[in-house]
Amino acid sequence: MPIDLHTHSTASDGTEAPALVVERAVEAGLGTIALTDHDTTLGWDEAAAAARRLGLTLVPGIEVSCARGRQSIHLLAYLPDPTHPDLVAELEQARDSRDTRLDRMVSRMAADGIPVTVEAVRAEVEEGATVGRPHIADALVRAGVVAHRDEAFATVLGNDSPYYVAHYAPDPVRAVEVVRAAGGAAVVAHAWSGTRGRVVSDAVIEEMVAAGLTGIEVHHRDHDAEAVAHLHDLATALGLVATGSSDYHGDGKLNRLGEFTTDPDALAAIEDVASGSEVVRP
Ligand code: AMP
Ligand code: ZN
Ligand code: FE
Ligand code: FE
Repeated sequence: MPIDLHTHSTASDGTEAPALVVERAVEAGLGTIALTDHDTTLGWDEAAAAARRLGLTLVPGIEVSCARGRQSIHLLAYLPDPTHPDLVAELEQARDSRDTRLDRMVSRMAADGIPVTVEAVRAEVEEGATVGRPHIADALVRAGVVAHRDEAFATVLGNDSPYYVAHYAPDPVRAVEVVRAAGGAAVVAHAWSGTRGRVVSDAVIEEMVAAGLTGIEVHHRDHDAEAVAHLHDLATALGLVATGSSDYHGDGKLNRLGEFTTDPDALAAIEDVASGSEVVRP
């Protein structure tokens, strides 16, 4: 049955609770998903319980925010030990910085007359969840400023917007080292999103390989044919696993569960590398 190794829930910026993501995955005919919320393992237990109940295989994961200079890079961590001190510390630092960054983005926007407050954004975030720009978007939708998240990103929330503020994120090499130290397998997410300025260079990927990178997310909605061809060849040349995933966010993005999938051999290779936590099998 199909395998989708990249999904988000309300533990970060997805719109469905972890158990509902699992339910939707079963409805979509998937056999396995990874839950990979941004900078948190908060959703793991709920998703695991739902997976056992509904007969889905769950790969516990995290999408770790990283940065090299102004370049944002996302790293998928599969099966790490969620209690590993270095991993816990990195994730906490990123989430704390996301809180501060929310305050700064909102005050910049409010100063310009955009009707948004930190309280209104907080009301869009589950208790303990990782806060992100999509939650600011949700507050703007509720206030009637924009029609949907996409419009918010196209106008005031984009990386080039005057309201954009970066948050702390580890260097990708450091992040791979921490994920490996925590017994996880590391796969670089949507490395070529296609838009200028968001492409992870081959040189950075090679540095990540030296630190223990296991794979590249090759098949993804943000990758055009050229990106897929390039990343596929790069994965082969570097001896890396190639994955494909949806990057599902519930109603928050167009991405549909199972729109791209991962070969069972690739998941087996990820499991071989990882020793930090267990795949949840029904
Ligand atoms: P942040 O992590 O707070 O910087 O926000 C970036 C996140 O916003 C990404 O990981 C995506 O999940 C989400 N995102 C980016 N662009 C869009 C978009 N156009 N519509 C909806 N969500 C988006
Ligand atoms: Zn997201
Ligand atoms: Fe991402
Ligand atoms: Fe994602």
